[in-house]
Amino acid sequence: MIANRGEIVVRVLKTLQEMGITGVAVYSEPDAKAPHVLAADEAYLLGPAEAAQSYLNQDKLIEVAKATGCDGIHPGYGFLSENATFARRVEAEGLTWIGPPPSAIDSMGGKVGAREIMIAAGVPVVPGTDGSESEVDALEAEASTMKYPVLIKASAGGGGKGMRVVHDPADFRNAAEAAKGEAKKAFGDDTVYVEKYIERPRHIEFQVFADGHGNFIHLFERECSIQRRHQKIVEETPSPAVTPEIRKAMGDAAIAAAKAVDYRGAGTIEFLLDDDGSFYFLEMNTRLQVEHPVTEEVTGLDLVRMQIEVASGLPIAPEALDAVQRGHSLECRVYAEDPAMNFLPMSGTVIKVVPPTGPGVRVDHALRDGLEVSVHYDPMLAKVITYGRDRNEAIERMRLALREFVVLGIRTNLGHLQAVLDSAPFVAGDMSTHFLDEHMPGWKPDELELTEEARAGLMLHDLVTVGAGDAGGPGGAPGLGSPWRTLSGWRHLSWRERV
Ligand code: ADP
Ligand code: ADP
Ligand code: MG
Repeated sequence: MIANRGEIVVRVLKTLQEMGITGVAVYSEPDAKAPHVLAADEAYLLGPAEAAQSYLNQDKLIEVAKATGCDGIHPGYGFLSENATFARRVEAEGLTWIGPPPSAIDSMGGKVGAREIMIAAGVPVVPGTDGSESEVDALEAEASTMKYPVLIKASAGGGGKGMRVVHDPADFRNAAEAAKGEAKKAFGDDTVYVEKYIERPRHIEFQVFADGHGNFIHLFERECSIQRRHQKIVEETPSPAVTPEIRKAMGDAAIAAAKAVDYRGAGTIEFLLDDDGSFYFLEMNTRLQVEHPVTEEVTGLDLVRMQIEVASGLPIAPEALDAVQRGHSLECRVYAEDPAMNFLPMSGTVIKVVPPTGPGVRVDHALRDGLEVSVHYDPMLAKVITYGRDRNEAIERMRLALREFVVLGIRTNLGHLQAVLDSAPFVAGDMSTHFLDEHMPGWKPDELELTEEARAGLMLHDLVTVGAGDAGGPGGAPGLGSPWRTLSGWRHLSWRERV
């Protein structure tokens, strides 16, 4: 059973189906006809839209898994994937948790505790407070001994929430109170601590794997420096900044981190890499990562299959033990959001979707024509992944793929992603986590760009006037209408699929 929704469910189902394992999906009321439900061998209703009553409803999830005779539960990412209580419960019910030991989730769940474990393991962490004090007065006193700017962070943080940069000691108090409030609201835990703010870092993370047979490996790095509000939007591997020496040092640190918590399964060790080559542990994500496909592309490995094999007690396969990086891969996250409105998440109906295809192009998504994008869930619509012999080829393929991706009816960040891929510093591989602020401040979509409504209207116009009776353009069979369907931006696109 896959205890999640959307593209990650479709992704996991592919591997299950390949392996000949029956995949059970679960869904909330508004997701009854969602692609992840249609793709599954069996699917069961959990409850109403609110995550607490559906995708986070542990009782119901266990009930469905047992009633359907499932052997194991894959939690995907988000939702219950880093919930040790749920993982323990899954195991107590005699089901296999396709994830790390619950004790490792606990150890790495709080940033404060994780930092302590890393310090003991000799892994460098960002200089900062030890988390023993979380009261504003004490933190302010501790921060006063540090060099500003500093970063106030929520121990329970995730998804970029509960973080405040402070440049001036006079602002510390307000920022700390705001961070505590945000952390309390988002995570129910207002523990915060203070870290040195690294001014122009790269976000470099390592994919690790361990199997309970003594094998601890890493599958190289992913660079995730292109971020908006501390959230990744473009990822790639290899990182243009990582030399063989840095890779060796960071890879060794990542493996030491995994060993320190007796890890098993797939995990990610996130680091900040500074200009001078020094690097610092940020956090460990004890689950499959959103950006895992780029690692799959350059290693040729199926990370979900590896998770399932390791969870069922097998050792890591020899081809993974000997993995090498071949070529280059990029991922762009496509969100339902309005770039003209400060990237406000959007809800609405996807009227028409045509994902790009072609050599080296992979799209992980759970979209279909007529899909309702709801306010209840994460606005990520799809991930476009490209592979090339080298970085330039991966970039060229990504540019074409983004241009060809048709999503009508709802605003997306596709234009913004195109602008990133076209920018000279990105092409040069010159990035930090401030890339968007430095190179694309106040970016707005092209005024001339057609609104989604106008594009939808044009498509309908095409259908009615061209599609009715006309024998059509190249290759069009008589009576089937033109294969030339619609406009994307200002270009005619050809596709032959019937609406
Ligand atoms: P990552 O490094 O994999 O992006 P984060 O810790 O930043 O991990 O956040 C977890 C990821 O899970 C986010 O990218 C977010 O888009 C995704 N996510 C969080 N909640 C949900 C949800 N309810 N549905 C789908 N995806 C989610
Ligand atoms: P989350 O759990 O929200 O993913 P992380 O600790 O992984 O939090 O940090 C998310 C992002 O915030 C990083 O990728 C980086 O851009 C920024 N960040 C975090 N800590 C620091 C720091 N000490 N200095 C500079 N930037 C930081
Ligand atoms: Mg993180």
